[in-house]
Amino acid sequence: MRIPIIAGNWKMNTTVKEAVKLVRDMLDGLDRIEGVEKVLCPPFVFLAEIGGILKGSSIKLGAQTMYFATKGAYTGEISPLMLREWCQFVILGHSERRRYFGETDEIVNKKIKAALENRLKPIMCVGEKLEENEAGRTEEIIGRQINQGLNNVQPTHNIVIAYEPVWAIGTGKAASGQQAAATIKFIRNTLAKLWSEDVAQNLRILYGGSVTDNNVAEFISQSEIDGALVGGASLRAEEFLSIVNQTAAIKETSLPAEQSKP
Ligand code: PEP
Repeated sequence: MRIPIIAGNWKMNTTVKEAVKLVRDMLDGLDRIEGVEKVLCPPFVFLAEIGGILKGSSIKLGAQTMYFATKGAYTGEISPLMLREWCQFVILGHSERRRYFGETDEIVNKKIKAALENRLKPIMCVGEKLEENEAGRTEEIIGRQINQGLNNVQPTHNIVIAYEPVWAIGTGKAASGQQAAATIKFIRNTLAKLWSEDVAQNLRILYGGSVTDNNVAEFISQSEIDGALVGGASLRAEEFLSIVNQTAAIKETSLPAEQSKP
């Protein structure tokens, strides 16, 4: 059984004051929700502050990226060794990293290996651009991102994959639940070929791209979809709470009680 995850990617948003308010506004409500793994991914500079507030709660922390070396002369970078004191998760290969910071599948692969070696769970993002989607190349692109991104990575359940069509991120134009489920099924089949059917069936695959409290049910009600990576809506406490609450309610109906605790 796969425990659903909702992860909030705050991106490069909030001041420290806003970050603290945001997390305080959702803390009690989020902490009470069972059956869903809840992950907040604030900017690096707020991890310690937010980590302190979340201490003792059921909410986990994630980073939005990291470098693959553990230490050294890499001015400005943050290593897995530094992150693991604060985070359980790290988002890797987000399309904004690929687009603006030149992250290739090869770099993502190095980062995935470094994260796992340092006991961090990668949330590995894959997704096709609009022109690739329109040209019918979705499976080709995602197949390449999965196979190269996980090249020589030992089979593990400790990776979460996020299918995020680039055309749906921050655009308000989400995929349909059926579209997302079909691509996620393809990702699971690709993982079964790369690793094994058993690992593929137990690994969690999320949808991301303009998820809101209005459309989350459409994704979560698909049995293939194990949760969501949420950008914009994770900056609104009430909306994020509603997304997690809806996920818990929908997935609870398909999970035996003793298996629904993260
Ligand atoms: C994201 O940043 O991963 C994302 C899905 O953003 P949004 O929900 O704003 O589309």
